[in-house]
Amino acid sequence: MTRKHTESRQTLSDYHVHTSLCHHAEGLTSEYLDQARLKNIPELCFTDHAPNPHGYDPANRMALDDFAAYQAMIRPLQKSESPRVLFGVEADYYPGGLDFLRQWLAAHSFDFVLGSVHYVGDWGIDSPAEMHRWRTADVPDAWRKYFLLLADLADTHLFDAVGHLDLPKKFGFVPPEQDIAGMAGPALDRIAEAGMSIEVNTAGLRKPIGEIYPSPLLLRMARERGITICFGSDAHKPGEVGFEFPAALRLAREAGYTHAARYSRRRRTLVPLPEAAANNP
Ligand code: ZN
Ligand code: FE
Ligand code: FE
Ligand code: ZN
Repeated sequence: MTRKHTESRQTLSDYHVHTSLCHHAEGLTSEYLDQARLKNIPELCFTDHAPNPHGYDPANRMALDDFAAYQAMIRPLQKSESPRVLFGVEADYYPGGLDFLRQWLAAHSFDFVLGSVHYVGDWGIDSPAEMHRWRTADVPDAWRKYFLLLADLADTHLFDAVGHLDLPKKFGFVPPEQDIAGMAGPALDRIAEAGMSIEVNTAGLRKPIGEIYPSPLLLRMARERGITICFGSDAHKPGEVGFEFPAALRLAREAGYTHAARYSRRRRTLVPLPEAAANNP
């Protein structure tokens, strides 16, 4: 009986939440934890935007000097048992950033490193301030370049998982699905070869596209390649922790997934997905 009760409360872990250090998120880390408790989320992994040198997008990430403050914010929370708190970052992959990333990631003991591409050339493709560029852009070309960058990201073997796999869809500028599948296939092959996970990220449901990252088709393609998944709300405020996780769980199950990846000190283990009906309210 006890066992059944425990299972009925089992929910997905949230491996993608931010903090106010990135300048575009709000709330206290204690409030993120409170939300996770409320929603019975077993593990909460902070993955704030990692710092970069060379003036790379300073408006949207902590400064290098803020990293000590980030550690001071998250480390004490790791005393919490419910939820268990993990120490991670969302690190950008971009051409020219590799030497820094290689040494910086190795110098710190993360539980989980999420790898994301937010820039195609000098264009912040998911930045609301640069959304207007989609209107005049060669849309398929932008998507093609994005997936080439993701493939390069995978080849670095520096990251545990890919963040928001089909991020270019955010504002609704989307090529035909089969074209996307053709561009994403080679990137997914390299993600699979690298032994990485991808995240099922519910932030897209809060954006104009109104769809989880990745699309059902891309998630099926990932499943066919044996790529594991984790789940993230990409919360930028406490109320977004665990955002729409029942929908994420449904999507994963429909794509054929039975397990989620979890990480500790950058080592992956697999846990069975919770039952659909028993997930977060
Ligand atoms: Zn952000
Ligand atoms: Fe991101
Ligand atoms: Fe994020
Ligand atoms: Zn993100």
